[in-house]
Amino acid sequence: MLTHLRKYAIEKDSQDPLQSFRNEFYIKEGEIYLDGNSLGLISKRAELSLEKTIQAWKEHGIDGWMTGEQPWFYISEKLGEMSAPLVGAEPAEVLAAGSTTMNLHQLVATFYSPQGNRTKILADELNFPSDIYALKSQISLRGLNPEEHLIRVKSRDGRLLEEEDIIEAMTEEVALIVLPTVLYRSGQLLDIKRLTEEAHKRNILIGFDGCHSVGAIPHKFSEWGVDFAFWCNYKYLNAGPGSIASLYVNKRHFGRIPGLAGWFGSDKTKQFDMEHTFSSAAEAGAYQIGTPHIMSAAPLIGSLEMFAEAGIDRIREKSLDLTHYLMDLIIEELSGFGFEIANPIDPVRLGGHVSLEHPEAARICKALKENGVVPDFRQPNVIRLAPVALYTSYSEVWEAVQRLKKIMENKDYEKYENKREIIA
Ligand SMILES: *Cc1c(COP(=O)(O)O)cnc(C)c1O
Repeated sequence: MLTHLRKYAIEKDSQDPLQSFRNEFYIKEGEIYLDGNSLGLISKRAELSLEKTIQAWKEHGIDGWMTGEQPWFYISEKLGEMSAPLVGAEPAEVLAAGSTTMNLHQLVATFYSPQGNRTKILADELNFPSDIYALKSQISLRGLNPEEHLIRVKSRDGRLLEEEDIIEAMTEEVALIVLPTVLYRSGQLLDIKRLTEEAHKRNILIGFDGCHSVGAIPHKFSEWGVDFAFWCNYKYLNAGPGSIASLYVNKRHFGRIPGLAGWFGSDKTKQFDMEHTFSSAAEAGAYQIGTPHIMSAAPLIGSLEMFAEAGIDRIREKSLDLTHYLMDLIIEELSGFGFEIANPIDPVRLGGHVSLEHPEAARICKALKENGVVPDFRQPNVIRLAPVALYTSYSEVWEAVQRLKKIMENKDYEKYENKREIIA
């Protein structure tokens, strides 16, 4: 059947093994939400686990730390255990705590040991700004000059990174590598396994920022030997704005003293001895700092239950199918309107979103929102469209492209300024 017909989309929806999950989300009538790579939608189960936590607070007060369905004292480790299958880790290697940027600070403080000629951190010039700020400040804290000690691998085309270029930059001066799993603008998925192998051949530690992949793409961090990773839970994992983040530490590093110690990183049986000598937890739990943000952790419980039921491999399969369907429709319906697909097409290099470039991107995004399609915009010319496996239907992808086509035909975007808002 021809893919540009609505019938095709309806047929695909009826065969979708994940279709029932859509009913678990709050989806606004008539609105097509394609921004799950920035903030995932709320599900009924995330809402329920948050409500239960509020109820536990009402019922138990201080005793909620140790009693109730989910004692708060163990919530970080429990969420780590529930997240482990998503990244291919052992339960003890994953922890939910803090925020993405804080976890990056913690991990770099722990794993960056500049010594002799090995003093540099290797990152890339397309990386998310917060990661770069954190890396620079960690370098400064060691009394080193970030301009000299942070190397950023260049992109050949401003969109993608070539693994060969990264490997070439792994010199004897590099102590640590921090890279994204998926680039936030172009949606490129890096070859994590290969980069980890090459780093280790050169005795360099390597960590990954999984914000744009965890919950959309399966990983095998332990099998690949990744040293550490960190990610947020509010994008593909739908745990809510500002929700608790996560980190992974390979078990061969257990016992390393956290760079930023705090009492919640203690061995749990000793934490309340209130000694001034820190007794570090034996596992990834060591790398949390203070009291976990229980209310921002609670929605993740319900959300992760759904991921366990859906299975990350099925999620990836549908996500790839949806993104390819979206690209096919863009090529069929929108040629001649000046769009360029900037993400890789090859499934082994493609993340969870489509990156569409257009000189009028900012105002096309405004027109899309006005027409009930929620995309997001990234400077200077990128429209990111993320069809999310658990809640986006094929029919919605079809409809979104039809609405975009109308906007382009009628030049509806000309009503708006081609400038981003405070938040893109
Ligand atoms: C979303 C995102 C962040 C956000 O960091 P926060 O500390 O949660 O604000 C960091 N890095 C990348 C690559 C991201 O996509």
